[in-house]
Amino acid sequence: PTAVPSGLVDAIARVWGFRSLRPLQEHAIAAVLARRDSLVVMPTGGGKSLCYQAPPIFRGDTTVVVSPLIALMKDQVDSLHRVGVPAVRFDSTQTAVERTAAENAVRGGKVPLVFASPERLGMSGFVRMVGESCRVRAVAVDEAHCISHWGHDFRPEYRQLGRLRELFPGTTIHAYTATATEKVRGDIAHQLGLDEPEIIVGHFDRPNLTFRVLPKLDVRRQAREVIDRNRGSAGIIYCLRRKDVEELAAYLVAAGYDAIGYHAGMANEERRAAQDRFAVEEAPIVVATIAFGMGIDRPDVRFVVHAAMPKTIEHYQQETGRAGRDSRPSECVLLYSGSDAITLRNMIEKSAVESGGDLSFLPAVFEQLSAMDRYCRGAVCRHRALVRHFGQEYEPANCKACDICLGDTQEVPDATVVAQKILSCVARVNQSFGVGHVVSVLRGESTDSVRQRGHDKVTTFGLLKEVPKPDLRDWVFQLIGHEVLVQTVDEYPILRLNAASWEVMKGQRPVRLIQLVRRTQRGRRSSTP
Ligand code: ADP
Ligand code: ZN
Repeated sequence: PTAVPSGLVDAIARVWGFRSLRPLQEHAIAAVLARRDSLVVMPTGGGKSLCYQAPPIFRGDTTVVVSPLIALMKDQVDSLHRVGVPAVRFDSTQTAVERTAAENAVRGGKVPLVFASPERLGMSGFVRMVGESCRVRAVAVDEAHCISHWGHDFRPEYRQLGRLRELFPGTTIHAYTATATEKVRGDIAHQLGLDEPEIIVGHFDRPNLTFRVLPKLDVRRQAREVIDRNRGSAGIIYCLRRKDVEELAAYLVAAGYDAIGYHAGMANEERRAAQDRFAVEEAPIVVATIAFGMGIDRPDVRFVVHAAMPKTIEHYQQETGRAGRDSRPSECVLLYSGSDAITLRNMIEKSAVESGGDLSFLPAVFEQLSAMDRYCRGAVCRHRALVRHFGQEYEPANCKACDICLGDTQEVPDATVVAQKILSCVARVNQSFGVGHVVSVLRGESTDSVRQRGHDKVTTFGLLKEVPKPDLRDWVFQLIGHEVLVQTVDEYPILRLNAASWEVMKGQRPVRLIQLVRRTQRGRRSSTP
């Protein structure tokens, strides 16, 4: 990347007081100044906004910023005003007076930053006014993953952004997002019609975070264990439903903790008050649905607990990313129950049907859900699994900061032999059945479905009958995580073999399986129920 001019570094110091640019920011800003389209994937807290805010201030022209979240636009405009930078926004929540003021500012032609909701860009009058009054040389698309079905937060109104090039001829287009797999990156570039974009991807690993997935036994007790380990620190506990938020927050308050509930059903002022408390208090614990986090900038969050599995790995990465922004050790604990995936699947389906929208993207959403589920059941180093999800390699053999590498888990003895038995059973049932059926056959359960298919006669029937069902299911999922077994992504997922499966069966490839264990209250270890 070319270095950015010193004049721009000075301007940033003058306006924001930052003494230097972060390496990725430098690279991203250089792309804007070089008039190259770009796609910037930078983890939350990396400082994306500066990348599109600084260039127009330095060049004395205008950048149009598209953002899906009105609250975020407001925050950004307010904070630009605080540092003395003219900025305006256009969205549907404005009053007529606010709109007129914004229009007058644009007509004055001296506004470096014009924020607009995607709907506004669909209005030709708006586009003409901005184009005629200001020297627009760049368009920035914030939260760009919203344009892709394969992203975790698809927004249909973002599809209109495919016309940006036509709407603002002669500008460069720059897309920014915190989370995007390679597939999503490709889709963003394609949908926005980026022209040979500079693709700038940050590092996804957060070495100061310790990741653990624990079987969910008792959310209250398990949450308190994490809070007590981190006494005197701020933390966030994510729940699935508003009701869970209210109950857990009330419980913690009654137990003497400084707990604050936060969910989308609360009134705006209540939410604002909760955010303010979280920002200033000594050791606040926010119990929240995913609505909490946008625009939260407290660097010393010491723990993030997930009382339920998130919908996607992207969500998980973003939510855990709110811990330890100050780079000090912090922990992320996910309380896992296999039924979470089913609950989420039903919730997603229900809301898609109720909103009467397009259902064709549901398979993509379900695939992301099952990737999250595989992560939880997996026996792969958590840092490695997360980083690999975003298409990056992870070098260390032992991260020293996850349940798997820290040995919170026990090895299954003779794991390779166990794996061979499981894989042979998949072969025996002709690679045509799902996890439940294969587990039944291996455990020698003479169910109707097993007998009807004659699977009580196959040689693998009852081969692992001494293994408890939940353990056997875990191991099957671990084999999928190790990529020596494949689960299809159909409506009824089926287990299939791949080349690696045969290597395992021929004894050419050893496999490690872990016994997922839990610590009881007294700190003893016992096997999963
Ligand atoms: P993102 O949108 O990527 O999550 P933000 O743009 O909100 O991140 O920036 C995150 C935080 O980092 C903000 O508090 C911002 O003031 C700070 N920040 C950004 N760039 C720098 C920099 N070069 N030096 C110091 N602090 C910075
Ligand atoms: Zn690890």
